[in-house]
Amino acid sequence: MGWQQRITEACQQRRAAGLWRERHQVSQRGASQIAIDGKSYLNFSSNDYLGLSQHPQLLTAWQQGIARYGAGAGASTHVTGYHHVQAEFEQQLADWLGYPRALLFISGFAANQALVAALMASGDRILADRLMHASLLEAAAQSPASLRRFAHNQPPALARLLASPCSGETLVVSEGIFSMDGDCAPLADLQHLTRQHQGWLLVDDAHGIGVSGEGGRGSCWQQQVQPDLLVVTFGKAFGVSGAAVLCSEALAQYLLQFCRHLIYSTAMPPAQICALQAALLLVQQGDEYRQRLQHNIRYFRQRALTLPGSLMDSDSAIQPWVVGDDDRALALAAALRQRGCWVGAIRPPTVPAGSARLRITLSAAHDERQIDSLLEALSDAAGG
Ligand code: PMP
Repeated sequence: MGWQQRITEACQQRRAAGLWRERHQVSQRGASQIAIDGKSYLNFSSNDYLGLSQHPQLLTAWQQGIARYGAGAGASTHVTGYHHVQAEFEQQLADWLGYPRALLFISGFAANQALVAALMASGDRILADRLMHASLLEAAAQSPASLRRFAHNQPPALARLLASPCSGETLVVSEGIFSMDGDCAPLADLQHLTRQHQGWLLVDDAHGIGVSGEGGRGSCWQQQVQPDLLVVTFGKAFGVSGAAVLCSEALAQYLLQFCRHLIYSTAMPPAQICALQAALLLVQQGDEYRQRLQHNIRYFRQRALTLPGSLMDSDSAIQPWVVGDDDRALALAAALRQRGCWVGAIRPPTVPAGSARLRITLSAAHDERQIDSLLEALSDAAGG
C-alpha cells in the first residue's frame, strides 16, 4: 500500500474512532497550577503527588550538579558515563528499599521494556494483570515469550494460569498502585502464588513509590512483599524523571551484561542524579507531604461521593471518575477547563472500551480551597 497511504489511513481511522490525541503547550507549571495555551488552570492531572517538582532543595541540587558535572553524562555507563554519583545513588536506593542492588534507567518505560527483552526467551511465559502498563504489555507482545493476562487484581485468575504447564520460566507482572484505576494490587497473594510455581514476580510501583508505605518506600514495603524485580520511577512522586530496578546481586550482574538499554544508551546526566538524591531525601523525610496528600484524598472523596457520577473505589492520589462514553469524557474535561480546572480525559486504548474516565490526580501541593473549586466545577459540569 505504500508508506504514505499506510500512515494517512491509520490517522484517519484514529480520528474516525474519536480517539485522536491532542497535545497542549504548557507555558508554566507550578506544584498545583498550570498555564496551558496562555491560560492558567488548577492542575488536577499531574503525577507530582508530593509537589516535589518545584521544591527549592531539588532545584538547587540540580543546578549545583550542572555547575559541577556539566549538562550530560557524555556516554553510556559501559563507556565513560558511569559517574560516581550514579554509583552512590544506586547504593542509596538499594539500602533504602532493602535490596542488594539497584540499577538506574532513563525512564520507567525503558526499564520495563529492557527487563522483558533481557530476561524472556522462547518457551517462557509472562502472566500480567489485565490493566498492566503499556510499557510492559507491549514489550511482552514483542518478546518470544507467551503473554497471558489475568483478571485485574484477581489472584484466583492468576492461580488458574499458573496451574497450566509451561516448559520455560514464568514472570508474573503487576503494578503496585494501578495508574488508571488508582487501586492497590494484592501483592502478598501474587508473591505467594508466584513462588509456589517457582516463577519470578515483577512489580512496577511507579505510582506507589514515595507515596505509600513507611517512609514512602512504596506498596511492596507496605504489604511486606519483596518482588524479585521492583521497578520504581522518578517522574511521579520524586518530581523528576528516570527509574530504577531493584534486584539481587546475580540479576544485576546479568542485566549489566545483557540489558541492551543499559549498554547502548547514554547514561542519565549526573546533575539529574544530584536532583534525584535531593528528591530521595525529601521523600524519606516526607511524612508531612504524605499526610497532607492523604488529607486531600479524604477531603476530596468525602465530598465527591455526594456528587452524581461514578467515582472509583480508590484511596490513592489517583481518583478516577468513570464516565463510560468517550465523547462524554472529552466534553466533561472541556467543561472543567472552562471552569478553570485541568483534568485529563482518558479513553481507550489506554483504558478498556466503555470505561472512559476523568483521571483526577491529587497532590500534597493542593489546598482545600483548590479542591473545593474542583468539586464545584465537577458538580456544575456533571449537572449536580
Ligand atoms: N509504569 C507505570 C505504571 C506508569 O504509569 C508509567 C508512566 N505513566 C511508566 C511505567 C513509565 O514511566 P516513565 O514515565 O518513567 O517512562
